[in-house]
Amino acid sequence: MIRVAILGSTGSIGRSALEVIARHADRFEIVALAANRSAEELTAQVRRFQPARAVLCHDGLDLPNGGGRTVWASGRSALLDVAEDPEVDVVLNALVGAVGLEPTLAALRAGHRLALANKESLVAGGELVMEAAAEGGGEVVPIDSEHSAILQCREGYPASSIQRVVLTASGGPFRGMTRDELWRVGPDEALRHPTWDMGAKITIDSATLANKALEVIEAHYLYGLDYDAIDAVIHPQSVIHSFVEFVDGSVLAQLGFPTMELPILYALSYPERVDDPVLRTYDPVRASPLTFEEIDHASFPLFGLGAEAGRRGGCAPVVYNAANEIAVQAFLEGRIRFPEMADVVSEALGRVGDGQIGDVEDVSSADREGREAAVEAARKLTGRVGASS
Ligand code: MG
Repeated sequence: MIRVAILGSTGSIGRSALEVIARHADRFEIVALAANRSAEELTAQVRRFQPARAVLCHDGLDLPNGGGRTVWASGRSALLDVAEDPEVDVVLNALVGAVGLEPTLAALRAGHRLALANKESLVAGGELVMEAAAEGGGEVVPIDSEHSAILQCREGYPASSIQRVVLTASGGPFRGMTRDELWRVGPDEALRHPTWDMGAKITIDSATLANKALEVIEAHYLYGLDYDAIDAVIHPQSVIHSFVEFVDGSVLAQLGFPTMELPILYALSYPERVDDPVLRTYDPVRASPLTFEEIDHASFPLFGLGAEAGRRGGCAPVVYNAANEIAVQAFLEGRIRFPEMADVVSEALGRVGDGQIGDVEDVSSADREGREAAVEAARKLTGRVGASS
């Protein structure tokens, strides 16, 4: 039995992971569940899966009592305890945002497999994450569909045989729109994703293509690729999840109808493949046609800003990620317009994007400075909207 801890079990990925594991109860056992603050849903999950431990990350919430054999705890240190628990084989990190970094490092230092859905861990602390894995003997197996695709295509080949990877992006709900048209789109429209069913933050990131920039940075760290060797292309059907081009010109791609359950199952069972009739749905005729387009940089500048931040390295990816979280929140709350998310991030990067990262404290302070600069930038923009309307 593979013993699994899920951090962020009440979010979109966490719930999908529980469904996958419920179907393969002969193979995987849930030993710990952690959620940020959704006590009610976590309690229901605990009743169903009977883990040894349950954690509410947010301090100061009342812990549910009664859960059979489950021991409840709260706070960040309880979360880190779960991440490094020797009774765990795989830590599935599906937390949302920069809070995912410390549990990522703890799991890898403890030598666990880290099934990583929290892409901010790699974006904000890429070098620290890869160091922690080397130090503790842990391994990162990505749950992101694009990076899972790359892993599946490159399996069995040395890194030196890879020429380039091409990440695919659906283009989100606003593909084909001009920058002018994007001034008029609101949160409700942005939250309606054409192909993937995901949480709010990542759905907005897909609409702006910030998500694809985060994934470029992720690919850089995961696979040790130069930024020049990472491209991205719009592929509206979301059937091909990435391409890997080899030095002889041969290109492998991984295909499948969009569901996060497939990369989740693969991250848990890698390098084995597990028989799953629910996921065996691919039909090339139903999937066709498969089309591809260039990214429209004028309409979606957050992609270029993020890729540039990745190349700058040091603090820049941390600031990009932090400022983007603030910008998304401001957009969802109706305080700024869709194109202004890029303005907020750009201003934050210009003000505090320099500096090096040596440890977690450097990440925290760059993150904090990025957030402060972004809050300030968003406030100025909100004032402008208020004044003109
Ligand atoms: Mg993805």
